[in-house]
Amino acid sequence: MSKRANPMAVKSALTYDVSEAAKALGKSPATIRNWIKDGLPVMARQKPCLISGEAIRNYLRAKYRKAKSQLSHDELYCLSCRAGRKPVRLTVEVIPNNTKTTRLRGRCECCGAVSTRIISNSKAHAFAQTFDFKEGENRDA
Ligand SMILES: [Zn+2]
Repeated sequence: MSKRANPMAVKSALTYDVSEAAKALGKSPATIRNWIKDGLPVMARQKPCLISGEAIRNYLRAKYRKAKSQLSHDELYCLSCRAGRKPVRLTVEVIPNNTKTTRLRGRCECCGAVSTRIISNSKAHAFAQTFDFKEGENRDA
């Protein structure tokens, strides 16, 4: 799963141009421009457009909340569809992520791309009812 930007990496009282925002958030300027196309509000239409730190925070929080809430119990997040999708045959690889979480990885039923979901280890049993778990290797997609 691609890394999420940390909304707290920008200061709500400051304004940022695209390259400053990219740098603060560890993203590429192209990503910031995509966010603007996607609805991140800018303060002026002329160049360089400025974005308030507060707008960035609100945008990221809403975006991530949305991505999270889109997942049903039987879905992974498809990076290509950018949406919750069922994995093919409901089969997922189980990859230890850290001491508290596990990464599930499958193939998107719609497009075949890698889809992932981080679950808390305490919920692994519940997910095992839904998905067919198979052991995975800890490698990147
Ligand atoms: Zn997909």
